[in-house]
Amino acid sequence: MEKFKKICINCPAGCHLEIEKEGDAITVRGNSCPRGIAYARQEVTDPRRVVTAVVAADAPERLFIPVKTTAPVPMAEIPELLKKLFSMRVALPVHPGDVLLKDHPSTEITVVATGTGK
Ligand code: SF4
Repeated sequence: MEKFKKICINCPAGCHLEIEKEGDAITVRGNSCPRGIAYARQEVTDPRRVVTAVVAADAPERLFIPVKTTAPVPMAEIPELLKKLFSMRVALPVHPGDVLLKDHPSTEITVVATGTGK
């Protein structure tokens, strides 16, 4: 049996979850609502995070554009995604919401600008 301790981030209450996983069976304690169970299940089976970063603009001066993924990304895919983002040079102008990367490395990952850079 595997045991985990996580803090639910779905609301400001921040419930401290105690999770036991044995095969497909997952037991959660410490949650104050069902969302904590869903969060615990996701965390121990397929943890994901929204990724924020900056990408360099294709400009003579050092200019970086803040970006984020439009959905949580499987944690195993984050290093490859960051490697790609840090290798990019984005043509200006860029506006918040512009799609800067689509379908990398899986079709589910889209990265958009959250600012114009500075
Ligand atoms: S379990 Fe429910 S009440 Fe507790 S932090 Fe998560 S969402 Fe909030």
